[in-house]
Amino acid sequence: GLFCAVNCAEKTGTRILVIEKNISPGKKFLLSGTGQCNITHTGTVPEFTRHYGNAGDFVKPALSAFTPAAMINFLQENDIPTVEKENGKIFPESMRAIDVLSMLIELCENRGIEFRFDSPVTDIIYKDGIFEVTSGGEKFTSEKVVVASGGESYPDTGSSGDGYKFAESMGHSITPTSPSLAPVYIRSFPFTELSGISFKNRTVSLFKNGKKNHSSSGDILFTHKGLSGPVILDMSRYISRGDVLEVSLAGKKSEEMNTDFIAESRAQGKKSIKTFLKNYDIPERLITVILEQEGIDPLKNVSEISKNERVKLFKSLGEYPFIVEEKGNFNVAMATTGGVCRDEIDKRTMESKIIPGLYFAGEVIDVDGDTGGYNIQWAFSSGKTAADGIKRKG
Ligand SMILES: Cc1cc2nc3c(=O)[nH]c(=O)nc-3n(C[C@H](O)[C@H](O)[C@H](O)COP(=O)(O)OP(=O)(O)OC[C@H]3O[C@@H](n4cnc5c(N)ncnc54)[C@H](O)[C@@H]3O)c2cc1C
Repeated sequence: GLFCAVNCAEKTGTRILVIEKNISPGKKFLLSGTGQCNITHTGTVPEFTRHYGNAGDFVKPALSAFTPAAMINFLQENDIPTVEKENGKIFPESMRAIDVLSMLIELCENRGIEFRFDSPVTDIIYKDGIFEVTSGGEKFTSEKVVVASGGESYPDTGSSGDGYKFAESMGHSITPTSPSLAPVYIRSFPFTELSGISFKNRTVSLFKNGKKNHSSSGDILFTHKGLSGPVILDMSRYISRGDVLEVSLAGKKSEEMNTDFIAESRAQGKKSIKTFLKNYDIPERLITVILEQEGIDPLKNVSEISKNERVKLFKSLGEYPFIVEEKGNFNVAMATTGGVCRDEIDKRTMESKIIPGLYFAGEVIDVDGDTGGYNIQWAFSSGKTAADGIKRKG
């Protein structure tokens, strides 16, 4: 919303008002990247579009209008140098979200943008080409309105889904929302004692009603009650209760382990199963727990392991089937999947196809990005696109 306002203000003679529910703007932004603000990611626009689930086509024009490179330039021009961290994530060099937020607020102030803080909008009515926005007993009228009220995650930050209500009241459909970038809780999670253990680059396959729905690779984390880590967070937009997540805990498929095992038991039959499993990138504590769960003595020679034992063991290590009890709710999810229906928004301008002069920007739209800076980039790119659309329309 702030970046949209800054860009609208480049048009002279426009009066711009930002109405914010909280006593100051950007409460969620300040939490981003645990306060360090993972603001964007390395990569070209075509690469970026692969990080928004099935919204790739929709986000492309906005990302092209304000690219990740343009984001870095914009920050640099405003004395916020950036730095690339692990896996291509981009942060302000200071690692402080507050620096970026302060810069945006200062730009708004310098450009004469007006603010109303502590002023929740309760209603937006459109009549005869004019919007009437109600907030805290006041009514504001305008020919154009941008709804940039965020999604539903972390509702204490102010983004509690109000924008959906406004959009619906003006005839828009809302694609059902659910938490995204959320951890998952696993039914009778068998690895609670291993909470905190992480795995590099594991394959996770999502099954719905027994049918494979998605597959992806990345880092995984065991939590007290289930699974988290980038690959789980990114996949969470598709996950629901009762789904099955098959995880290659060993980083190998069961068939490959089986082939290795047969070769090794011929060559070194006296080797213990525990030593054999050390061939793989499996944390030692997990080896101990899995062997215990399978009822296999860790010191048993590989030549003595029965076919049944090895089939079950390698299935657990190659494709462990975790049943999803629940996905983390909006209090823990970092984004919202679903929102104002994309089909009803012009992707080149962010203008409503239903009400002329009504625009949307950011997470309120049915767009959610992967972890890694994709959501803030989307908020900025869509905000800039809405501003350009408004300026073009005059
Ligand atoms: C803990 C956490 C960490 C995150 N880390 C990252 C990260 O590192 N990188 C990344 O890319 N993304 C991250 N995200 C996601 C990212 O912060 C959001 O996608 C982004 O802030 C969305 O921007 P937005 O402007 O659309 O909405 P928001 O930032 O949610 O802003 C919406 C604003 O509208 C105001 N508002 C809502 N309703 C009303 C109303 N009725 N009246 C007036 N004002 C209203 C809210 O108070 C809020 O200030 C994180 C999210 C969380 C929760």
